[in-house]
Amino acid sequence: MNPFDLRIGLGWDLHRLEAGRECRLGGIVFAHPTGPAGHSDGDAVIHALCDALMGAAGLDDLGSLFPDTDPRHLGQDSAEFLVAVVAAIAQRGFGVVNVDLVIATEGPRIAPERERMRKRLADLLGIDSTRVNVKGKTLEGMGALAHGAGIAVQAVCLLAPRT
Ligand code: MG
Repeated sequence: MNPFDLRIGLGWDLHRLEAGRECRLGGIVFAHPTGPAGHSDGDAVIHALCDALMGAAGLDDLGSLFPDTDPRHLGQDSAEFLVAVVAAIAQRGFGVVNVDLVIATEGPRIAPERERMRKRLADLLGIDSTRVNVKGKTLEGMGALAHGAGIAVQAVCLLAPRT
């Protein structure tokens, strides 16, 4: 394989955490008193991952595919976005080699649900869960995120030509 055919992508997303919202992150539901606000279900993990995948494939970003002004996407399960993005990059001739995620939050705690999230994201991506890595990081008491105001996610991915 020509190494110049590999593509790297970077994604980042930030959502407020609000009381009374379901806490859906990485396609799984956490038992937590606050959840990410948003036009869709607010799943910042999947949004960052979609942006990484789309960036790697040269497809702009998630908002260009699913505008947050479109009433059809109100409350939508972001897992459906991810499935659509995987199809879009496949159409461009790419498959996912691996993804890595950093989830910065003081709550919910990511570590106890890490394996479940890896499995869920791997299923949605159509790859083995050993190719999906999830890391939770705390904010060390600094800034608004450390006081539960929101959640920030970074995602990186590698794509290769589909064989
Ligand atoms: Mg988002």
